[in-house]
Amino acid sequence: MNKVDPGFAKEIAEIRASVKRSDRFDYVTTYTEREFFKGKTTIERVLILRTRGCSWSYHSGCSMCGYWDDTNPDIGKEELKKQVESFLKDFPNGEVLKIFTSGSFFDPIEIDSALQFEIIEMVLRGYGNIIVESRPEYIGKVIGELKRFAGKLQVSIGLESTNSSILKNSVNKNYDFDDFKMAALRLRENGITVRTYLLLKPPFITENEAILDAVKSAKDLAPYSDFISINPMNIQRGTLVERMYKQGSYRPPWLWSVVTVLQSLRDVGVPVVSLVTASGKKRGAHNGHTCDRNFSEGIRKFSETLDYSFLDELKCECEANWKNFVGVEEETGVAISEVILND
Ligand code: SF4
Ligand SMILES: [Zn+2]
Repeated sequence: MNKVDPGFAKEIAEIRASVKRSDRFDYVTTYTEREFFKGKTTIERVLILRTRGCSWSYHSGCSMCGYWDDTNPDIGKEELKKQVESFLKDFPNGEVLKIFTSGSFFDPIEIDSALQFEIIEMVLRGYGNIIVESRPEYIGKVIGELKRFAGKLQVSIGLESTNSSILKNSVNKNYDFDDFKMAALRLRENGITVRTYLLLKPPFITENEAILDAVKSAKDLAPYSDFISINPMNIQRGTLVERMYKQGSYRPPWLWSVVTVLQSLRDVGVPVVSLVTASGKKRGAHNGHTCDRNFSEGIRKFSETLDYSFLDELKCECEANWKNFVGVEEETGVAISEVILND
């Protein structure tokens, strides 16, 4: 790992404080995506609620998280209920609804406790499954109530890595693998499935360290999870990672690395997919070559079907450039990047 700035957490808090937050009260957005879910390709509807924001972000926050600008500190119970009602009026039913809140669905400061269960009930009147995201520390308090949604509820946890040093010094996550394990065990013993997000290439590590960490993390956590989704870093606005990117000291992962991680995990025992945000773009995972579109398509098709042939058939001459990049970093022990101009 590269040298970590000791003022890291403070710097993240300072960057957060400079972000202009929203004054809107409506939900952020809704869209659909296709994903391999419960054994088949499924069209999932995504709803992003606008909340007061992640409680951890009020203290410091994660180094890559740019959701803060969507949040409005004045949003409370009534406004949230209205967002859900207006969404359900337009999109009353479907197979799966995935709700993101730019924070934690089960954080009672972010979403009133009674409203959390009310929202799940409202959604399950029209949807077969609901997926919500939460930090692990909120699970203990709600697990008794969640039992009744067994079989229809999936909880996602953004663990990012199982390596405590990376969680502390690269992500600033403020929880670790043990916290995740405790929450995941409690959820699963009550019939709630667990989806885990891993971050490919947190800051301050090399490309190769990032690949090894994602593969190791997925193997470590597979016994505690029903589904793993690899999130390659994308540069979000108002984050420490964006500052590093603009200074030319961070490069998002190569699509070659995403493919390598996914291929290394084919026998891990649970489905592992990757929905790559800004795939092939400078701010997302990219090879920086004419093959970016082809690789993005291959990874997308794989993630919808779990058919590894979509990955295995990806070939390009730029593999040599990627290997060279990885090799130089390993020789020097320093993460390198590209100088970013006019972005
Ligand atoms: S990544 Fe999640 S836990 Fe971290 S600051 Fe963002 S919303 Fe909060
Ligand atoms: Zn290429």
